[in-house]
Amino acid sequence: MDHFIYHDGVLHAEDVNVAEIAAQVGTPFYLYSHSTLLRHFRLFDEALSWGPHLVCYAMKAASNQAILTALAAEGAGMDVVSGGEYARAKAAGVPGDRIVFSGVGKTVEEIRSALEGGIRQFNVESEPEMRAISQVATSLGVVAPIAIRVNPDVDAKTHAKIATGKSENKFGIPIARAREVYAEAAALPGLKIVGIDVHIGSQLTQLEPFEMAYNKVAELTETLRADGHEIIRLDLGGGLGIPYARSNEAPPLPTDYGALIQRTVGHLGCEIEIEPGRLIAGNAGLLVSEVVYVKNGEGRDFLILDAAMNDLIRPAMYDAYHDIVPVIEPEAAVETVPYDIVGPVCESGDTFAKAREMPPLKAGDLVAFRSAGAYGAVMASEYNSRPLVPEVMAKDDQFAVIRARPSFDEMINRDTVPEWL
Ligand SMILES: *Cc1c(COP(=O)(O)O)cnc(C)c1O
Repeated sequence: MDHFIYHDGVLHAEDVNVAEIAAQVGTPFYLYSHSTLLRHFRLFDEALSWGPHLVCYAMKAASNQAILTALAAEGAGMDVVSGGEYARAKAAGVPGDRIVFSGVGKTVEEIRSALEGGIRQFNVESEPEMRAISQVATSLGVVAPIAIRVNPDVDAKTHAKIATGKSENKFGIPIARAREVYAEAAALPGLKIVGIDVHIGSQLTQLEPFEMAYNKVAELTETLRADGHEIIRLDLGGGLGIPYARSNEAPPLPTDYGALIQRTVGHLGCEIEIEPGRLIAGNAGLLVSEVVYVKNGEGRDFLILDAAMNDLIRPAMYDAYHDIVPVIEPEAAVETVPYDIVGPVCESGDTFAKAREMPPLKAGDLVAFRSAGAYGAVMASEYNSRPLVPEVMAKDDQFAVIRARPSFDEMINRDTVPEWL
């Protein structure tokens, strides 16, 4: 459920008219609903209310400071995957003891800054990384809390580019080698083992892969405890999917996911951490764009938008589907027509949808991509020298630009031409 609905024939974000925002901000732009973000966070928080837990928002999904600040105020932790994300979390007021640090390539500088600024735990992805963390911690005279990310070799049944829990993926250490690696971790001077971490992929639309992975984690917890390790936390990752096509998709609900966690690992008495990103931000954001031209092609009509693959790369990168709706509500009886919906970038891959049935549209009309809040703005680039599009947040009847559109001069002046040219 989200807070983007038609009122009086116009799409609204909460109580704000989307066409009015477009008139003030210009298109294209990302538009987030504050209530939707909070609602999704609370769904997870409530789904785990049967025991001690922390919901760590995977901020790579959408990391604007306003989004982080809103979630931090709700008590969210953060899952960060870079020094930049760590700095953003701290700047949003998230205390270090609510930040977990994931990612396969943490550098010595990133490890040091997290240890200095405070960290709940590092999710360790390899033995060399484990040794590096121990070394940095020892040099600073501190002990680094760690969980080791195990790769359970489970098929997440999702798009290949976002599956992470199979043995061929670069993530974690094979679960079969976990005992050996935990034994080495326990012997390193700068580390304190606090738990086990697992994350098998993104946009999962079934619970079975989670169930298989969590059962393996439960078994491993008992084994590691028998080996003498103290396992007080289980970080179960993110990955719960969202309905991108409202008409025919119904992925599992956070409540069912929470119940599954209780069923599989609840008896172990561990504190539970989860790292949802997409489900918190995805349906809390739109990308709003204007039709530049309707072009009659050979056997098809093209809807050419002012948004492009550099603004929203998911269709080009993951063959992703997004619902695209007119901002002005179409008449119920209107006959739809098929459009190929494309952007202006000089690549055929800059295609958002093919033969998409839409009400007839004309130049100047506004459309909104639904479910664009996660992996949208954060993956944008300035390809074709198209400045990053602004981000806007709506809350009740107010809205604010939370990242301004750079001018061409601002974009150009980030480059430096050497004197010797
Ligand atoms: C990407 C990622 C997440 C979030 O995945 P979603 O599908 O957005 O919920 C969580 N944990 C880790 C380690 C990740 O890499």
